[in-house]
Amino acid sequence: MATRKSTSKRTAPLAEYRRKRDFSRTAEPEGAGTGTNARKALRFVVQKHAASHLHFDFRLELDGVMKSWAVPKGPSYDPGVRRLAMQVEDHPIDYNTFEGTIPQGEYGGGTVMLWDRGTYEPENGGGVDALRDGYERGDLKILLHGKRLQGGWVLVRMRRDDSDRAQWLLIKHRDETADPDHDVVGSVTTSVASGRSMEAIAARQGRVWKSNRSEAGASPARKKRTVAAKPRRTKKGGAKVTKAGAKRAAKRAAKRAAKRAAKRPTDGAPKRATKRATARSRS
Ligand code: MN
Repeated sequence: MATRKSTSKRTAPLAEYRRKRDFSRTAEPEGAGTGTNARKALRFVVQKHAASHLHFDFRLELDGVMKSWAVPKGPSYDPGVRRLAMQVEDHPIDYNTFEGTIPQGEYGGGTVMLWDRGTYEPENGGGVDALRDGYERGDLKILLHGKRLQGGWVLVRMRRDDSDRAQWLLIKHRDETADPDHDVVGSVTTSVASGRSMEAIAARQGRVWKSNRSEAGASPARKKRTVAAKPRRTKKGGAKVTKAGAKRAAKRAAKRAAKRAAKRPTDGAPKRATKRATARSRS
């Protein structure tokens, strides 16, 4: 009876997410509830997560939660590359602003960086119904409007076991944003939210985004200074990095960014064909 078609409510949303975590120990959001978001554009976020194995968590908002996949190698702009994406439990929308360190020994212990964020939509229109349908069928074609990730992508489900632990593939579509030479994971190594490196995030263990959870249960050792989800500061000067090594790294990153900027309009994003179909072919 438990058919897939009608199973979106078969368990409480986020039950598995909450079961896995001790919110008196981790600063990750509890997820106060699921929010419906009928009018606004749907959000996506990619978090770089240095857990026992480094991976990128790819999350798409759908029906009040963030559908989530762990992508060990991260996304690739090369349409010829298929990246394994292991589905994990739905995460709360609040997770979209989480950047910080999950204590060692806790579930997913390690540093989390907000690597990209933005909105997304079905590639061929059809609104949220098309997304639900694609998700259920295991063929989810989407357009990403992020800072680092843009254009058409597809998530294709390979197989699924009883616990919903499906293996999918994340593949870039052949469109004007595709670029086999663009190593986005290798070249973009800073937070889209704070500009910090993984090392800088890890070094400030206490500076975690607390979302809207209550103060209760927070470790007294952990100073709760929040990191602005959308910092107004400039990207480069944003992080108060004091270590010389980190400074040099930032300089190198800035240099690379400047080089890229010569070719690309935004940080890490590939050159985007304008809607006016201007002359990309000319160069
Ligand atoms: Mn993760």
